[in-house]
Amino acid sequence: MDRLYADHNATSPLRPEAREAMLRAIDLGGNPSSVHGEGRAAKRALEDARESLAHILECGADAVTFTSGATEALHLAMESAKAMGFGPVYVSSVEHDAVWSYAVKLWPEAQLIPVNPGGILDVDWLGQELDIQGGQPLVIAQGANNETGTIQPLNAISTRVRAAGGALLCDAVQLLGKVSVAQFAGLTDWLVVSSHKIGGPMGAGALIAAPGIDVFNGRAGGGQERGARSGTENVAAIVGFAAAATVACDDDAVQAYQDLTSRTRHAFELPVATALSGVDFVSQTVRRLSNTSCLVVDGWEGARQVMAMDLAGVAVSAGSACSSGKVKMSRILKACGYSDSAAASSIRASFGWSSRIEDGVRLAELYLEAAARAGRNVTTQVA
Ligand code: PLP
Repeated sequence: MDRLYADHNATSPLRPEAREAMLRAIDLGGNPSSVHGEGRAAKRALEDARESLAHILECGADAVTFTSGATEALHLAMESAKAMGFGPVYVSSVEHDAVWSYAVKLWPEAQLIPVNPGGILDVDWLGQELDIQGGQPLVIAQGANNETGTIQPLNAISTRVRAAGGALLCDAVQLLGKVSVAQFAGLTDWLVVSSHKIGGPMGAGALIAAPGIDVFNGRAGGGQERGARSGTENVAAIVGFAAAATVACDDDAVQAYQDLTSRTRHAFELPVATALSGVDFVSQTVRRLSNTSCLVVDGWEGARQVMAMDLAGVAVSAGSACSSGKVKMSRILKACGYSDSAAASSIRASFGWSSRIEDGVRLAELYLEAAARAGRNVTTQVA
């Protein structure tokens, strides 16, 4: 039987439009910094991709710096904020490790922004802190969480930050293609997006800087990307990224994505909620991404759940996947107030552009079978 892929928040399969665009770009051959014909052709492809992404993200082309992915773009943004002298610094307690581990290194004194049990930032707490502390504050807050799917109230956050004369750095990796661009365009000072989360290739991302906001070039080199990021651009990956964004991000595409993924998720969550006692769907009571389902079954370790599902032919994640392949207790669920045991007992199913509603149905069946085999209390087996 075919495998079932439900891990789009980790990476979403390559869209055919991205693949085709990449194949054409690979054959261009030249270095975009070279002045000869081959170089100019590569440069044209690169700049066309930049224009496309800028159009989608409602910014100027010169606001777009291409990078090797979101991690690099986030680091570049944080280094830029540091170089511009922003402070005090506030970091949401539910940031991805790509932000978290570097932010605490750059600003050991940074304050954590608390979240409620659904993972929503405490905007009132933040507003009060900004009023009290003054300075030129930097707030680092993601758009949506990769594990729980919680969507942050970026508008309210941005309003508070701007009223305080500060800057907002936003990891929008999980927002792009999942909510309308109008909901986050123009609200941030640095915005970061990643190609492989929307069906583009891995190894491309972008940093979008607001007018008047610098992108600091910390690495000596060839001065590519208008001096903001040295190193030859990965033209084929960037072209694939722009092609994926073009099909994934307009309002009609986002609406179709939300319809498909919310129905697929419902087909999964309803039977599981009905049949499995003790299951807790995280963030169900707050605004969350239509494609993401995060479940806690306290006492059934996330790593074991993932292994059981993998053996059943299903790809899901536990906590956040990291490069070592180790699954840790979820720092995100801990920040939301879950116990150690619950935070080690979560899995995430995330659907996407290639999902079908039947995938949700099948996932529920296989999950309930695995739960029963693991000795959990399953009251109604789905046929
Ligand atoms: N931020 C979030 C919310 C993510 O989900 C990820 C991917 O796991 C990243 C950042 C890092 O993205 P990239 O793989 O492009 O470096």
